[in-house]
Amino acid sequence: MNDFSGRVLAWFEKHGRKDLPWQQPDAYRIWVSEIMLQQTQVQTVIPYYERFMQSFPTVLALANAELDTVLQHWSGLGYYARARNLHSAAQIVRDDYTGVFPDQFAAVVELPGIGRSTAGAILSLAFNTRHPILDGNVKRVLARHLAIGGWPGKSAIANRLWEAAERCTPKTAVAAYTQAIMDLGATVCTRSNPRCDSCPVNSDCQAFASHSIDQYPGRKQRKAKPLKHTTMVLAVNGNAVYLERRPAAGIWGGLWSLPELAGEDVADWCRQTLNSLDEGVESWDMMRHSFSHYDLDIQPIVVHVAATSRKVADGDGTTWHQLDELPPGGIAAPVQKLINTLKTGGHVQNS
Ligand code: SF4
Repeated sequence: MNDFSGRVLAWFEKHGRKDLPWQQPDAYRIWVSEIMLQQTQVQTVIPYYERFMQSFPTVLALANAELDTVLQHWSGLGYYARARNLHSAAQIVRDDYTGVFPDQFAAVVELPGIGRSTAGAILSLAFNTRHPILDGNVKRVLARHLAIGGWPGKSAIANRLWEAAERCTPKTAVAAYTQAIMDLGATVCTRSNPRCDSCPVNSDCQAFASHSIDQYPGRKQRKAKPLKHTTMVLAVNGNAVYLERRPAAGIWGGLWSLPELAGEDVADWCRQTLNSLDEGVESWDMMRHSFSHYDLDIQPIVVHVAATSRKVADGDGTTWHQLDELPPGGIAAPVQKLINTLKTGGHVQNS
């Protein structure tokens, strides 16, 4: 065991979190937790994780579930591609691996939504086999400890960090070390205000010694993001709002969303799409949503329709969503926000 991992393990033994619901040597449970934790904090994940495990206790239960049901369980966590990938990977495990989560790196890393670090984490945690990991927490610890500058999104920097991760990973107690190094990054070597005084590796941490912690890991040079605009229609009929399912490809693929106007007048849209006349139109304040590559300004328009002959058929990708019922599937965060505003009846009108 190397000196670095020995200190991290001794720290974990005393101070680490050991009662998280996924801390069991079960590849399926660990896999789901690793995916949920990719973009979300532990405390937020726990209730979602427990609900998800209740509904899909095994990889087969997940594989056999409807995608919409899986997306419903993801509603609120965001980044729905993670849920779609989980579902399709579960089907691959069912069909190609007789429902048993594989224990070989090459097979695991081929599954949708699982990269090198996540594969390493699942295998080391579930099977105690030696695989380094390099998630955001581990990158931060190693970049600071070894003063590896530069943005880890660049392959040269990522390679140096992977080499460091490889060197630091011990030959035994791999599962415990994987938990420990992730925990150290999450609770001590935090993004802001790291608790260096309580850190088990502070004696040879180069960033700590040179008072340059905030320089590591290096950041990407920011470019101004482009701004796009769209108009979304909240067509309300009684207690229901009209939703359409988005195409599988593109933003919010496969999620339920509000229809967007493509330049036409809202009254024309009502006639053409709902076979109905509008009984009043309100314009709400613009809402901005940020994607990683651009910002989107959404202009919400509420239109009340009294009678409509717009029927929806199963599978035609449209629905009248009753506001007091569960949504038909996953709903993108800003759309959910608009629906919630509609439910509470509280909105700010543009002046
Ligand atoms: S000493 Fe501080 S900066 Fe260095 S690894 Fe520990 S917590 Fe992170």
